[in-house]
Amino acid sequence: MLLVPCPNCGPRNAADFSYVGEAKARPDPNAATPEEWRDYLYMKDNPAGRLRETWYCRSGCRQYFVLERDTAANRFADPPLPAAEADGEEA
Ligand SMILES: [Zn+2]
Repeated sequence: MLLVPCPNCGPRNAADFSYVGEAKARPDPNAATPEEWRDYLYMKDNPAGRLRETWYCRSGCRQYFVLERDTAANRFADPPLPAAEADGEEA
C-alpha cells in the first residue's frame, strides 16, 4: 500500500487521491507556440528517480498539492507543498 502524505490530512492510502501528473510550469497563454503547448500537455519526463508530481486529495480536504517522489523507490519526500505555492503562484 502506498501512503501519500497530504499536507492537510496527513498520510493516507493512495486510493483516496487522484494522480494529476508531473508538476511543471504552464506556458504563457499569450506567448506560447503550439509546440510549447504540445510539450506541456503531452510530453512527460517520466524519469527513474526524483519527480515533482501534482496530487488531488479527493476523499479528504479536496486540495491539490505538489510533492516529490522517487519513482524508482516509490517513496515520497517531505514535506508536500500546496500546488499554487509549488508553482510559484500566490495562493
Ligand atoms: Zn487532504
